[in-house]
Amino acid sequence: MEGDLTRVLVTEDQIRVRLGELAREIERDYTGRDLLLVGVLRGAVMVMADLARSLERHVEMDWMAVSSYGSGTTSSGVVRILKDLDSDITGRDVLVVEDIIDTGLTLSWLVSNLSSRGPSSVSICTLLRKPEAQRMAVDVGYVGFEIPDEFVVGYGLDYAERYRNLRCIGTLAPHVYT
Ligand code: IMP
Repeated sequence: MEGDLTRVLVTEDQIRVRLGELAREIERDYTGRDLLLVGVLRGAVMVMADLARSLERHVEMDWMAVSSYGSGTTSSGVVRILKDLDSDITGRDVLVVEDIIDTGLTLSWLVSNLSSRGPSSVSICTLLRKPEAQRMAVDVGYVGFEIPDEFVVGYGLDYAERYRNLRCIGTLAPHVYT
């Protein structure tokens, strides 16, 4: 699998260290408050699993699945709920856990959808953010790494459902697309 990468952008070690730092920030910011982590399937599975285990406090976890890229490499902007939350988030502090923000279209939609359900707060934690996302109106509380505008795979991120199980994050060699 790693042979299909042209470049490793973030190593397994860097991910582990950075998630630890974000976990300390989250612990500080949510002291004395209940915290519900909402993972966005399927890309956020790895981030959710490692971030949740880095947090030395109680958290609950729930999941949503929304439509994303399919097997292409450009954002469609079309968002559809494939799986909704099991929990009622009324009055709760919600932290959305994402793998990557590219255009931010998915997330803007998700945040306004969740906000309409009467939570106490909705915040966002993303492992990766691309430059385009800076233009979106939604405030992102926790960002792991700012990365260039390239298509990346690994650590939950896929190309045609593959590479999610890579431990690092890297750019895919063009020969894989063709
Ligand atoms: P956005 O709406 O453009 O911010 O991105 C929506 C979704 O597209 C993300 O949650 C990812 O699942 C997927 N995505 C965006 N960029 C990449 C990438 O570089 N590699 C793999 N998936 C990506």
